[in-house]
Amino acid sequence: MDEHACRACGGAAGHLVLDLGRQPACDYFPRSDDPGPDPVYPLQMWLCSSCGLAQLLTDPTVPEEPRGTEPAALVAQAADAVERVAASGWMPGRGVVTEYGSPHGGSWLPMLAARGLTPAEDGPADLILDCFGLMHAADQRRALAERTARVAAGGVLLLQYHALGTIIRNRQWNALRHGHYAYYSTTALTAMLRAAGFSPRTAWRFDLYGGTVLLAAQREGEGRPGPDDAVLSLLLADDARAGVSGPDAFADLQRDVRAHAKDLHDWLGAERAAGRRVVGYGAASRAVALLCQADVDRELLPVVIDASPAKQGLRMPGTDIPVAGPAELAARRPDAVLLFVPDLLAEVRTAFPEVEAQGARWVDVEALGSRRLE
Ligand SMILES: [Zn+2]
Repeated sequence: MDEHACRACGGAAGHLVLDLGRQPACDYFPRSDDPGPDPVYPLQMWLCSSCGLAQLLTDPTVPEEPRGTEPAALVAQAADAVERVAASGWMPGRGVVTEYGSPHGGSWLPMLAARGLTPAEDGPADLILDCFGLMHAADQRRALAERTARVAAGGVLLLQYHALGTIIRNRQWNALRHGHYAYYSTTALTAMLRAAGFSPRTAWRFDLYGGTVLLAAQREGEGRPGPDDAVLSLLLADDARAGVSGPDAFADLQRDVRAHAKDLHDWLGAERAAGRRVVGYGAASRAVALLCQADVDRELLPVVIDASPAKQGLRMPGTDIPVAGPAELAARRPDAVLLFVPDLLAEVRTAFPEVEAQGARWVDVEALGSRRLE
């Protein structure tokens, strides 16, 4: 292996902790009439032994995914987060806010503007908000430095991330994807912040993606006196229990790749053998990794439904499975709809009552076969 330098601390010592082999870029949905084969790139997670940041090892340059429709679960979480931050006194009542958003969409700015903050593109800001944005930077140290440098004196940096402990505990191996360069534990992010002269002060937890953290940090020696560390201590203890800083905890994640793929392939095969029609729902990046690992083609899964107009007329990368709009959901009269994004369950049941009215059921892909979690 070529020498890899940690994206945060520059350290060279580390472990390859998750290897998905060669995968198509899950960001690039080819047109459905593009016969492929799609280019593939190694997809591997590396854990830095020095600072503990889990990160993408290789760095193929891939185009960005078409912006999807924003799931209601994400919108609801953002509103909840803004409420909770404000209620605990960490939301500046006025001043300037800058948002570093995710390329996949979702902005808190309208809500923050309604609370009296003024959005600005550059210059110092009283609140720097990063909601799933930082993970998209190949150079983590530089990206964090850019954000911290813009925090005005006494200002607050809010960082939201899908917790690495959640990924390990819930065996979310397909969270690993090209374009997502870092997978944060609170432990590793704390080290990154300290290296940038910042320290975490408090945090909030959310159920989104099984466990999402919003962390507030301030410059050392500024802002609120002393850390409000009850939640932080819990998060760090959770990290220690999950074993986020050493390679051992990742072994189950690696084993689960094969188990999960086999469960999916077997289930689809059994449904087909029984003459039941199955369609997929949610042309998400994690569905791409799973379908590729499970070697699923349109014989097993004839279509994946997605509400995003940008994805219609395209196909799932690395497969011949087309993506179609929600109109196909009723038209195909499926017996089961395999949901690739479990966070969407409540939303899709409400949005598409015809599925259950026609006698079909929603099936959570995360809960197939032997893989069912506690
Ligand atoms: Zn490092």
